[in-house]
Amino acid sequence: MDLARALRQKLECLQQVGVDFIPKIKPVDALLSKPSSPGEQPVIEHAESRSGPTVNSNPVDRTTAVQRPLLLDSPPSDNLTREERIKALDGLNAQVKACTRCLELVANRTQTVFGVGNPMARLCFFGEAPGADEDAQGEPFVGRAGQLLNKIIEACTLKREDVYILNVLRCRPPGNRNPTLEEATNCRPLFERQIEIINPEFIVCLGSIAASNLLNQNLAIGKLRGRFHDYRGAKVVVTYHPAYLLRNPAAKKYVWDDMKMLMREMGIPVPA
Ligand code: SF4
Repeated sequence: MDLARALRQKLECLQQVGVDFIPKIKPVDALLSKPSSPGEQPVIEHAESRSGPTVNSNPVDRTTAVQRPLLLDSPPSDNLTREERIKALDGLNAQVKACTRCLELVANRTQTVFGVGNPMARLCFFGEAPGADEDAQGEPFVGRAGQLLNKIIEACTLKREDVYILNVLRCRPPGNRNPTLEEATNCRPLFERQIEIINPEFIVCLGSIAASNLLNQNLAIGKLRGRFHDYRGAKVVVTYHPAYLLRNPAAKKYVWDDMKMLMREMGIPVPA
């Protein structure tokens, strides 16, 4: 098949699922409000993959399939009130809903999955990407892995509504495959701005996709966990993704060790 024919077929396929606009991708450097920490480029290979059935293509909302500039010029959120943070997050979420940067994800998503929780949270949990349940409900970590995350949060004597939960990607990769480097790069300005608005003191990276994208570190979880890392002044803990724990329950003890380390640093009494 020649290139022109293959391209025509791809465009016809996208048109059939509702995509009638293909954005011109800006260089990511131009989208970033602040430089990332020095080091390697984001790496997307990882050991854990999320579970869940493959989702079929869904029509794109044509009213929102328009590329809009990203909100990246707001001031740091250190002094923002709760109401100002809610307003900033709502504005960012509106841009996420309209985002069409990742054509395959846009063609397959039911809806975008922004983030959920306390806009004043001291602690953020940072995952990989929505799965089937999250794509259906529009909220991160609501499936089996989400239920396990809730238990982890409760083990830390916190509630889900005390923390903020978000992912590297805001759209579900088909079949729960790993995010591509291009997709993670596309979504980076969005999660960076989201974290900037929340301005947490602590971030827990769930799995190596989250860790590699936040920390620009291409190391296995085993080499990253057990100590604090830095992300723009926030203390970062790296631990295993709950989906990995569902398949490997023996790793739960390492997550509990990481949570106890976190609790001590946060000043939360650790259960005996
Ligand atoms: S994953 Fe992020 S960058 Fe890609 S289409 Fe969804 S919101 Fe846009």
